[in-house]
Amino acid sequence: MTLPLFAVYGASGCGRGVMPLARAQLQHQGISPTQLVFVDDHPEALEVNGQRVLRYAEFLQIEASARHAVLAIADGAVREKLAVRCAADGVQPWTVAASNVVTMDDVALGEGAVLSPFVTLTSNIRIGRHFHANLYSYVEHDCVIGNYVTFAPSVKCNGNVTIEDHAYIGAGAVIKQGKPGQPLVIGRGAVVGMGAVVTRDVPAGATVVGNPAKPFLKD
Ligand code: UDP
Repeated sequence: MTLPLFAVYGASGCGRGVMPLARAQLQHQGISPTQLVFVDDHPEALEVNGQRVLRYAEFLQIEASARHAVLAIADGAVREKLAVRCAADGVQPWTVAASNVVTMDDVALGEGAVLSPFVTLTSNIRIGRHFHANLYSYVEHDCVIGNYVTFAPSVKCNGNVTIEDHAYIGAGAVIKQGKPGQPLVIGRGAVVGMGAVVTRDVPAGATVVGNPAKPFLKD
């Protein structure tokens, strides 16, 4: 009998944090860890933490009833590139979530997410494709999050915040809540530095740091 095959795409830091979650999730569904592999375009070893590492072409060649991949790479632009490649080859987006993630009412989560341990998504939230919420991050009520958005660990995203596609929010950043009908907006591709306290809108493409967060000026 041909079985489905599951992949954690990316065998570096991010992928090694996602693999145990993926393994546990499959185990819960009664799926053997032998059906789970790392995929990496530049593999450094044949095996990482006991799990096989395949090149993408090898992953496609193995006989399988279906292929699923979670894109475990923090760079959202790389995730988008790989999502396009996977879709073209019939590899299905796979969401991996830790068993202790808390999801409250009316949360629409797009395909291919990674929700790390201790993540909380409260109520009435919209989230796009291939979202990463790393350890201890939360998303509060009425937030709207775009595609390929990345939260490093411990991001505190308060209510009524809109985050556009490809934004990257650094570890420990705090985003002040917006108002109903007047959200605080973090623009497309913006970068919020580690520990920043965001109190007002961040323009698309900007990098902000500090408390209160201000544009980062390179010298
Ligand atoms: N990678 C890949 N295909 C790509 C880009 C990256 O397979 O198009 C792999 C890369 O070889 C590396 C991992 O993804 O193993 C990214 O690792 P990195 O440490 O740069 O990022 P992180 O794991 O922190 O997201």
